[in-house]
Amino acid sequence: MNPGYLIFHPTLDMPLPALPALLARLAQTGLTGVPLKDAPNHFLAGEHLLQRLTFLGCSPNLPLVSDDTADDAVCTVQLLGPYPTPRLIGGSNSRPPRCHHCRHPYDNWRDHLSDIEQEVCCPRCGHRCAWHELNWRQMAGAGRLFITISQVFPGEAVPTAGLMETLQQTGEPWDYFYAQPPLRGIEEAVTDGDKEGGVSGQ
Ligand SMILES: [Zn+2]
Repeated sequence: MNPGYLIFHPTLDMPLPALPALLARLAQTGLTGVPLKDAPNHFLAGEHLLQRLTFLGCSPNLPLVSDDTADDAVCTVQLLGPYPTPRLIGGSNSRPPRCHHCRHPYDNWRDHLSDIEQEVCCPRCGHRCAWHELNWRQMAGAGRLFITISQVFPGEAVPTAGLMETLQQTGEPWDYFYAQPPLRGIEEAVTDGDKEGGVSGQ
């Protein structure tokens, strides 16, 4: 069973990086390994993945394998997108986002997953921003391109500065968050176990 994904994405206000160069950097730096059969842009974890994450608390226990098959119990790295329009991806752990100024919680957030670029005005303090710019507390994130690492429990590991530099090599700022399956906000299933995921639902 997959306890969660650590998910990276370029911030929405920046142009997308060139995909071939990005995929090459991920492979060269050992983040991605063998490509999975019949799965585009989906890889086994690379040989240096564990060195590119800092595990908080107990020692890392990511299940890794060396051939080109993988199931829901193995750590994989997958690139999702680029999507034609921005989308918000979250998971079963996602909670109401908060106003950056007064921490007002937006309990109706699930009604707005399809219009994340629309402006919202805080009913408590009047602060205005787009839905995706609210404080999602690292439990959801918006973008057109995502890189997921499976088998990471929320908050269990943080990326090293070197990993963020690999992602940001051409200058775009990247961010990251943690989402537990089933993921919401993508049509494409991340793994066979996540096919129930969708914007609607819980
Ligand atoms: Zn507010």
